Amino acid sequence: MSELWAMDAYALHEQFASGAISAEAIVKAHLDRIQAWDSTIGAFLFVDAEGALRRAREEDAWTLDERRRRPLSGVPVALKDNIVTRHMPTTAGSKILGAFLSPYDATVVDKLMDAGAILIGKTNLDEFAMGSSTEHSAFHPTRNPWDATRVPGGSSGGSAAAVAARMVPVALGSDTGGSIRQPASYCGVVGMKPTYGRVSRYGLIAFASSLDQIGPMTRSLRDSRLVYGVIHGSDPHDSTSLTNVAEPIPSQEQRWRIGLPREFFGDGMDDGVRRVIDQALESLQGLGHELVEISLPHTDYAIAAYYLIAPAEASSNLSRYDGVRYGMRASGGDLLNMYETTRDEGFGDEVKRRVLLGTHALSAGYYDAYYLTAQKVRTRIREDFDQAFQTVDYIVTPTTPDTAFVLGARSDDPIKMYLGDIFTVTANLAGIPGLSMPAGLAAGLPVGLQWLAPPLFDAALLDAAETLERVLQPMPWPEEVKA
Ligand code: GLN
Repeated sequence: MSELWAMDAYALHEQFASGAISAEAIVKAHLDRIQAWDSTIGAFLFVDAEGALRRAREEDAWTLDERRRRPLSGVPVALKDNIVTRHMPTTAGSKILGAFLSPYDATVVDKLMDAGAILIGKTNLDEFAMGSSTEHSAFHPTRNPWDATRVPGGSSGGSAAAVAARMVPVALGSDTGGSIRQPASYCGVVGMKPTYGRVSRYGLIAFASSLDQIGPMTRSLRDSRLVYGVIHGSDPHDSTSLTNVAEPIPSQEQRWRIGLPREFFGDGMDDGVRRVIDQALESLQGLGHELVEISLPHTDYAIAAYYLIAPAEASSNLSRYDGVRYGMRASGGDLLNMYETTRDEGFGDEVKRRVLLGTHALSAGYYDAYYLTAQKVRTRIREDFDQAFQTVDYIVTPTTPDTAFVLGARSDDPIKMYLGDIFTVTANLAGIPGLSMPAGLAAGLPVGLQWLAPPLFDAALLDAAETLERVLQPMPWPEEVKA
């Protein structure tokens, strides 16, 4: 297909850098696409058409040499709206930030701009990235481009849907317990969560600081590599960002031992998902890799540990929204009353649920029973992976036990919503890199295959997944958004 919006970032950049197409034409094509389809999908919270066109004309003024030197020059990019930007509002999917405009750009934004990317808008998310469906956005839900009655996943649902619907070739998401990988899986795109600390979190609105990572969402693995290449690296503004890292050189051996954790392949997996994953595993064998059953014995405790640690950190991170420092402020009453009313009116139900859970888990008398125990489980989970990676190069699992569910299906049942995160949370708890790639369709809906690797094997992981991408059928066109 020759339409500009149908090309991946890699191809767009090549064409732009060779002088074959203008950045203005690229941006216009994507803005048209947003215009045509976003009223159905609802992927964006803010589109900066004017700013993007202005930036495009700036890019067009560069020489071909200068274009070539900047790996994302000419490429439109969308940002999950919990990544702060100076020239566009940032809401984190919440009312509490009101008309907040950040005084600075996130480090990833600076890096994207330095590489020549053109920011096109901010995408929808569950409020403060808490959720798995994007239904907890305070503004509107996002719909899945494969079936608009279904959710795109979450919390980076807007980013995943925008990429799947070809409104933008690249978007950034954030992943605390699966929020890049699960929506990537539901929308049939690639989503990567780098090793904890590999990408700066400076300017990412904090949810659970020991788990949060920013990563790329794209339609091809080469695009994820391109974007990861631009955004990673140490940052003095983020004390958890890793410094002096030498990425390990993966074995040049083209035959890997790939671990299949028995705990991930048990009951509770949708039959359609199992079929697609089994086929992908056959393809891996066809490539000469050895599949070995492994055990990650503490997987059963992962959801419980995650849903104590993440809310505990969130309850502390969200204490800053008090009506004084940012955004919305309720009026009337004394100071305490102002705090309470602002938070009561500003936060949605899911955020309140997490703040209550987290505060309880940290409170005197319960701390040992909940938070401390969860931290011990976290250590065990990390050790499970350490052990597994003694014997295998990579681990492969389904990204989610199911495909995209119908809007509203889990709204009244938070536990059911939480349980869907079972395959993704362990990578965050252990700090290891993970990615989801489309593996095929089950009943017309995308199924994601997850790759996990030891810490810092981010680039290796992208390469490994790409070998599989080469032999899988290309994903067909999503149903709801016409070509
Ligand atoms: N679905 C998980 C949660 O609700 C993960 C969210 C995320 O990664 N931001 O916490």
